[in-house]
Amino acid sequence: MLDTWTNGRPIADKVIGKKRASLVEMKRGESSIVWVGDVPIGGTESIVIAGPCSVESREQVTSTAFVVKRLGAVILRGGAYKPRTSPYDFQGLGVEGLRLLREAGDATGLPVVTEIMSEHDVDVVCDHAEMLQVGARNMQNFALLKMLAKTNKPILLKRGPSATVKEWLSSAEYLLHGGNDNVVLCERGIKTFDNSLRNTLDLAAVALVKEMTHLPVIVDPSHATGKRSIIAACAKAALAVGADGVVVEVHPEPDKALSDGAQSLTFELFGEMMEELRTPIRRIRPAMSMAI
Ligand code: PEP
Ligand code: MN
Repeated sequence: MLDTWTNGRPIADKVIGKKRASLVEMKRGESSIVWVGDVPIGGTESIVIAGPCSVESREQVTSTAFVVKRLGAVILRGGAYKPRTSPYDFQGLGVEGLRLLREAGDATGLPVVTEIMSEHDVDVVCDHAEMLQVGARNMQNFALLKMLAKTNKPILLKRGPSATVKEWLSSAEYLLHGGNDNVVLCERGIKTFDNSLRNTLDLAAVALVKEMTHLPVIVDPSHATGKRSIIAACAKAALAVGADGVVVEVHPEPDKALSDGAQSLTFELFGEMMEELRTPIRRIRPAMSMAI
């Protein structure tokens, strides 16, 4: 029997022997390009996505959009539906937030990415954004993944805080199997024994999934660290291990941010990060000459 959510792609087609073939792990070593508006992710150049954690006001998101664009970001981020640990924390502006993000995207010419938390919001979020983010907490929301598989929208699939690489790739498989090949993976830190930082940035997993899959992979050093002073260093390390880009949070006044202020870069720090990313990593000492 065919399942109903795979746009007619029969499961049986993909059974090879006893082991089901994985679409995510096919084309190993190749690098697929996912287009977000006119921005390619996974091509020869790495890309930077930037913007506020939450859309808070027209002035906040628009001023951020103009600054990050001038400094080199090519996609604007901003949350309208926020997955907050506490129900008493700011939950996002909802549809009004989507409108303000869209306005800022249109004013600057930047495509926008925003989080989708519920199956009920698929249409409205698709109407306002070029790319949809499945947040870490929803990585295994299979009902949501099945619905997003039916859209043609690029999906930014964050790794769950406690998800193994295999589980992360299985979630990506839901999207590809359901008919949506436009998937970008995002490592955003995982939970470990160490609580020195908000999460532990698993850069080895980035190198690993680059080897295992053809999907573009980006890194979010903001959520991975929770600490603005080390975001530039981690972003640089991400590109060094082969990430196709980074996504960072930027706020005009981080100390007044309604969410994730401690990890939000000021405009000035964002500029410094961009400069750092454009500077080659330290040269290795030349080999010593050998007496023959
Ligand atoms: C975010 O991008 O603001 C966010 C909530 O991310 P994550 O799902 O990685 O925690
Ligand atoms: Mn955030």
